Amino acid sequence: MTDVAAEATWTVPTSLSPSRVESFLSCPLAFRFSSIEKLPDPPTVATTRGSLVHRALELFFLRPVAERTPAALDRCADAAIAEYREHPDFVQLSLTPDEVERFDHECRELVANYLGMEDPTTVRDIGLELKLEAPVGDLTLRGIIDRLELDPQGELVVTDYKTGRAPSPNWERKSLSGVHFYAFLCESVFGRRPAAIRLMYLKSGETITATPSAQSTKFMTTRTSAVWKAVATACERDDFRPRQSALCNHCAYQRWCPEFGGDPALAAAEAPVVLGGAVPA
Ligand code: SF4
Repeated sequence: MTDVAAEATWTVPTSLSPSRVESFLSCPLAFRFSSIEKLPDPPTVATTRGSLVHRALELFFLRPVAERTPAALDRCADAAIAEYREHPDFVQLSLTPDEVERFDHECRELVANYLGMEDPTTVRDIGLELKLEAPVGDLTLRGIIDRLELDPQGELVVTDYKTGRAPSPNWERKSLSGVHFYAFLCESVFGRRPAAIRLMYLKSGETITATPSAQSTKFMTTRTSAVWKAVATACERDDFRPRQSALCNHCAYQRWCPEFGGDPALAAAEAPVVLGGAVPA
């Protein structure tokens, strides 16, 4: 650990995931609220829908290859929807009956779109929702791989399901950075670099595929180390600046953001009450 970290005002995190890296780069202040202060981060319709769809596809791939039929996929979507009725991420959304109907419909549609993208009976999956971690210096990188499989040549392939729209070509590189992260984790844990990393955009039916290389892995570790150093410096200097973007429209911490007239110092006391997760006295 560096001297910077040892003298930090805030405790420097010892692990990072791809989403945390992107969160810091998008807005350091929102990162401080969620990852350093660990304030409640309420679910949204989009995040809950994404988790439910991932669960449905996980259930589907747990079935024997011969049973990966359209009817089975529908049943897996139903099972995931039933599971999520009790899930805190769904319950906290407090949807009206009409909104629940729309939510279920959108989830079923995304799950059904999967079958138009590939033949599931040809997928040689060897791991689902794999939790992997690997060290980079003093830092631990953590991530969950949606699906790890073998291609016809027996090489590893990482597949990541996306429930949002496919990015424009300008954003493609950014969206693949998270998957290169998973490629690095795979190489560290299994000693083999995946032959391909795939993003399956279930809404549009598009798949973006990239081939990881020694260069892309090195770039990823260099970039992550740089982000971690920037986090450590921000902790030391208590300097997490807000960065306005379209994400502000969905930011749970907007009322404590100086860009919107708020006071970040009040978030620790108020957020557990306002956003939920408060422990009853
Ligand atoms: S409202 Fe915007 S600028 Fe403020 S903390 Fe949230 S994401 Fe950052």
